[in-house]
Order: sequence, then C-alpha cells, then structure tokens
Amino acid sequence: MTYKIGLLRGDGIGPEIVDSAVRVLEAIAKKYGHKFEFTPYLIGGAALDACGVPLPEETVQGCLASDSVLLGAVGGPKWDTLPGNMRPEKALLGIRAAMELFTNLRPAKLYPALKGDCPLREDIVANGFDIMIVRELTGGIYFGERGMREGKYGEEAYDTECYSRMEIERIAKVAFETARKRNKKLTSIDKANVLDTSRLWRKIVHEMAEGYPDVECFDMLVDNAAMQLVRNPAQFDVIVTSNMFGDILSDEASQITGSIGMLPSASLGNTTRGLYEPIHGSAPDIAGKNLANPIATILSAAMMLLYSFNLTKESDAIINAVDRVLNAGYRTADIAHGGEALGTVEMTDKIIAML
Ligand code: NAD
Repeated sequence: MTYKIGLLRGDGIGPEIVDSAVRVLEAIAKKYGHKFEFTPYLIGGAALDACGVPLPEETVQGCLASDSVLLGAVGGPKWDTLPGNMRPEKALLGIRAAMELFTNLRPAKLYPALKGDCPLREDIVANGFDIMIVRELTGGIYFGERGMREGKYGEEAYDTECYSRMEIERIAKVAFETARKRNKKLTSIDKANVLDTSRLWRKIVHEMAEGYPDVECFDMLVDNAAMQLVRNPAQFDVIVTSNMFGDILSDEASQITGSIGMLPSASLGNTTRGLYEPIHGSAPDIAGKNLANPIATILSAAMMLLYSFNLTKESDAIINAVDRVLNAGYRTADIAHGGEALGTVEMTDKIIAML
C-alpha cells in the first residue's frame, strides 16, 4: 500500500528529528513492503521567512490532501518579537483547526531503563508507568465566550466553558476504544462537584460505559488526579478529560517521565488522518548540532502507523526497537547525564539497526 505523508519540518531541531523519523519509516517500508510518499510543506518560522506567513494556504491544502502528517516543531528567537497572529506557534492552532482535530493523545511512559530520570521517589515508580492521556482539543473554556466588562468591583474579565453532548460523546468514544486496545482501564477526570459541564461529562461517560463492559471505568476529580499522578502514577492506564484539565495534567504527566525528548503525541479527528508530533519545542539552543533526541518524533511516527494506518505490527516494531536501544544503554545527551552520548543521526542508526 502507498501512504501519502505530509512533512512539516518547521524550525530549530524540527528538520533533524523529522528526517530521523523519515529514515525509520523508510526502513519499515522496506522491511514490511509498504510505500510511504513524503511531501514537505513549510510551517512556522521557515514559512514566515519564505512566504511571510506562518501557515501558508499551500501547507493547509497539502496536509488535507495527505493520508497523515508528521510535524517537527516550530518557533525560535528570530521570530519572538513578531505580533501574536504572525508568531510561528500560531500555525499550530491553525493547522489543528484546519484538519478538524478534536482529540489529543499523549502517552506518558516511564521506560525502565530511564527510571533514574524520573523526579519521583524510587519506590513510587518501582514498576514504571505507562499512561495514555486523551484530551479534548477543540472545545471547553479555551474556545468559549470570553470578554472584559465592568462588574461590581470595576474592571473584570470572564471566560466560559461549554461542552455539548456531541463533543463529549466523540471524545469519550476515542477514550473507550483506546482503553480497549490497552489495559482496559479508563479514568474520566472532571470537576463534577462544582461544574455543570463536568456533571454532563460524567453523565455521558457513564451512559457510554454500558456499551464497553470490557473496560473498567472510574471517575476522578481533577484536584485528586493532579495529586494521584505524583502519588501513584502506575494506577492509570487511559485518562480522558476536557481541554483545560488535559492541558495541565498532560504536562504534569510528561514531567514525571523526566525526559521531554522521549514523548510523542497524536492529534486526531473524525478521519484516519492525524497530526503527529513530539511534545517538545524546537530547542533552538541545540538546533543544527546533531544533539537532539529523535525518539519523541520517531515514536510519533509509530503512533501514526497505528492510529492512521492501522499498521500495528510495524508500529510495535518501532516501539520495541526504541526499548531495545535504551536497554542496551545507548543515550542521547539529554538522557546521558554526562555519560557517553550518541548524536541524533547515530541514535537513529541504532534504532534502525534494531528494527
Ligand atoms: P523546548 O521544548 O524547545 O526546549 C526545552 C529544553 O528541552 C531545551 O533545553 C531543549 O534543548 C530541550 N529539548 C527539547 N527537545 C529536545 C530533544 N528532542 N532533545 C534534546 N533536548 C531537547 O521548549 P522552549 O525552549 O520553551 O521553546 C523553544 C521554542 O519552541 C519556542 O519558540 C517555543 O515557542 C517553541 N515551542 C514549540 C512547540 C511546538 O512546535 N509544538 C512546543 C513548545 C515550544
């Protein structure tokens, strides 16, 4: 089969890490008899420099015509003084909206080989953890009515949270299906003791749970969830939550893995076409030096194989190769703690060799 993949290399380390992932995908194609067709499009600072806007129309159309899209990262000091709507980061919101991506999947996994990077106490993470956060991405308070007004005490600002049944049902469906493919445990996180949106959220999740008798479903209040993530992260398998709670909890979860260069993400909509990207930024401090850890982007490509193309075996092959490389003791500088470190290209070579 031929799969058309749009490449958004972006800025800083973006081109280096996307090229690493492309090399891994090419090795997978060769091994399993697939064909990946890669088409690069400009985004972020690179697009600003070439055509004066962070998200050219050609990029949007190219992504919409692709079977899936792999993104590096955007931004850097060169464009930091531009006004908000011309900032490279604006392109990220633009492309997610254009592709109608309402789900963000963020795994937070502590690799046994990297336990020492975890900031939590050793006994808490003795058995590691492997969490998948399913965050609603296009609704809730970030997209609700907002404004400034004169109130009882003078100037005031307000933001509103609104969730429709349709929005909750479609994200809950992704979460239940994801849990079904993993350890069949779903924790739905809300603030149902205070918020009406959370009460509707909880009611709908309970209704839907009846259709997934094989998935154990629990509710948890967001304040407790923030605490449980650092107290006992291994209790979680799949978490589903709203846009703002997911924003905060997924950053907390990524921090307790201790290694930002290792974490991939996927943004999905109603079609199989997704946007896959590492959770880290463009790391301008190490750009162009062959120092970046390519693993987050390589694992993003593995997520693409699974979620967009349903190539389970091929996706697992990448994940296992990364595990083996780490278990064999190979590290990039960010996870080497002063020990011997491989460059971006050499780490990619090792992963390809382990496939
Ligand atoms: P960052 O994630 O780029 O870097 C934070 C630190 O982590 C840096 O020390 C960096 O060297 C290190 N780091 C990040 N990824 C790494 C990797 N793969 N390998 C090794 N080390 C890595 O965050 P920042 O410094 O706050 O932001 C830099 C730029 O990236 C800014 O312009 C910011 O707006 C942008 N940004 C973009 C995205 C995105 O494209 N999705 C996300 C966050 C930040």
